[in-house]
Amino acid sequence: MIPLLDLTVQYRDLKPEIDAAMQSAAAEGRYILGPNVKAFEGEVAAKYECAHGIGVGNGTDALHLALRALNIGPGDEVITSPFTFIATTEAISIVGARPVFADIAPDTLNLDPRDVAARITPQTKAILPVHIYGHPCEMEPIMELAAQHDLRIIEDCAQAIGARWHGKAVGSWGDVGCFSFFPSKNLGCFGDGGMCLANDQAISERLEMLRRHGGRVKYYHEEIGLNSRLDELQAAILRVKLPHLDDWTNARRAIAARYRAAFEDNSAIRLVAQREGADAVYHQFTILVDDRDGVQTRLKDAGVQTMVYYPVPLHLQTVHADLGYQRGDFPVAEEAAARCLSLPMYPELTLEDQNRVIECVRAALV
Ligand SMILES: *Cc1c(COP(=O)(O)O)cnc(C)c1O
Repeated sequence: MIPLLDLTVQYRDLKPEIDAAMQSAAAEGRYILGPNVKAFEGEVAAKYECAHGIGVGNGTDALHLALRALNIGPGDEVITSPFTFIATTEAISIVGARPVFADIAPDTLNLDPRDVAARITPQTKAILPVHIYGHPCEMEPIMELAAQHDLRIIEDCAQAIGARWHGKAVGSWGDVGCFSFFPSKNLGCFGDGGMCLANDQAISERLEMLRRHGGRVKYYHEEIGLNSRLDELQAAILRVKLPHLDDWTNARRAIAARYRAAFEDNSAIRLVAQREGADAVYHQFTILVDDRDGVQTRLKDAGVQTMVYYPVPLHLQTVHADLGYQRGDFPVAEEAAARCLSLPMYPELTLEDQNRVIECVRAALV
């Protein structure tokens, strides 16, 4: 079976360095917000041109804490995409705000700025674009809407570390950029991990306070916070991996280019568009096809693992029934959810396996 991804290869390739980093963090004994977390925060912030990095427990908490740090809560509306992982709206709901969906663009599957504009009300406090599959959102129109209506921008960069739109890194456009180091993300650790990037000093200080029980000084608490810190051990691992991320991203791009070349003239396959100015990082390579479930079954029988990210758009999830949305409200997201299929994609996927995936996809379309 050609797997969707193989997390063991990177550890095998970097084993001596990763083992040494874990051992030295263990010997150092500063397990909470220790030297590796501090260094890694600086390294990520510098790499993606932000003033501050705040390491947190996971990507979901990064979103949650970002909303808290921007004072978004009960009575507020946050506009986001229905075509994303549940964590995006979970964070909005956890702080007591209301997720308001706007439809996605049919070519990029990212939030459609024109539909966002139509959903703004006096209660709207923020826009939360999601750079889905590692494709950067078109940021200028979103920034413009935010400026016009005095809204905050929180970027969900969980799938898009290193992606750029018009040369500017995702996560550096909005007020806070939220990242995940979940093992399967493009930069993954050996458990849960996350980070917020911010340029504003006050927002950064607030995030630091919120991740450690709402206090600046130990045992002096100013507000209700969370216990959500990036682990020292995970940071030690991530520091070994970070210098390799650009190479891994380039390997993903090369695979994507081969898939694209193989499929772009195939009228049975719709590809996610590469807009001019988008430097995608291909967290997933996703195709849109008719009879998606049939194609998936035939690929499985042929020995190719695929995945559906995500089968149910968020406005139709049971958990969000109280928001009052119905089937038909976001037709583009619904169509994408019905047709999307993600193909094997990870930096170490061999040329032979790539060719086999291409062959099997063609055969599965009949
Ligand atoms: C993975 C993911 C998250 C959540 O990250 P965790 O670290 O798993 O909490 C949020 N949003 C999107 C789009 C994701 O893919």
